[in-house]
Amino acid sequence: MMEKGERNTAPPSLVGKGGGELGQTPKRRKPKNVAPAGWTAEQGAAKLPAVFERLRETYGERRWRPHQEPIDELVLTILSQRNTDRSTEQSYLTLRERFPTWEQVMHAPVEEIADAIRWSGLYQMKAPRIQGVLQRIDDERGNFDLRFLTEMPLAEAKAWLKALPGVGPKTTAIVLLFSLGMPAFPVDTHVYRISQRLGLIGPKVSEAGAHDVLEAMLAPSQMFEFHVNMIAHGRHICHAIGPKCDRCPLLSLCPFGQSRLGTTTTPGKEESPPHA
Ligand code: SF4
Repeated sequence: MMEKGERNTAPPSLVGKGGGELGQTPKRRKPKNVAPAGWTAEQGAAKLPAVFERLRETYGERRWRPHQEPIDELVLTILSQRNTDRSTEQSYLTLRERFPTWEQVMHAPVEEIADAIRWSGLYQMKAPRIQGVLQRIDDERGNFDLRFLTEMPLAEAKAWLKALPGVGPKTTAIVLLFSLGMPAFPVDTHVYRISQRLGLIGPKVSEAGAHDVLEAMLAPSQMFEFHVNMIAHGRHICHAIGPKCDRCPLLSLCPFGQSRLGTTTTPGKEESPPHA
């Protein structure tokens, strides 16, 4: 089932609450994550291997294994937008209990779908969106099996998913990576914030644009682990408000953290990693 703590990517893990694909503006103001002065893309790319290794030392090696069916992952990820893992799971399980097949979900009165997912934020918007996605898939494919995407080049598979109503780069990458094992890199609010602070991406790179930038920097075999460990780091150490820079294993690589603490740390001087 779901491994939320890893995705949320904000979806329910693995996907965090990053959302952003429903066109809503987050209410809470977050501090600006300033990229280092004189930042260059080359510097960001050169830093990534060290970041990857320190995250592995801290949170462990992660191995991809097949998750659920891609259509399940797709709906689950839509439900997770602007939502907590717990509420997402409650909404998803209730939806599946009341409407055991996706065909039933597609044909049900929209208010009944909304009621089934009412724990999920923006549920009144998500109910018609989910039905619209299912309808489009059924119209084009005649079923809800998305495994055909693995036979497409990555860019083509992404384009196919992004053409679905309300599906953006994060949802697309989550379905391709988590469910199908394709080399797409999802960027949620945690991944985006930490990447900015570390200087892996530049100050003008948007959250949507960060998918392609970071994806190009990673080997396919690194994508799942890096995504999951970045989320773990965002949840445990590098919070949006009040990051624990003084105990962060990435401090010597992080100009934002060094600036906050008013110090420059030499490699190897960080405290023991906070095992998640
Ligand atoms: S040093 Fe601070 S800002 Fe940088 S990654 Fe660590 S917790 Fe985040």
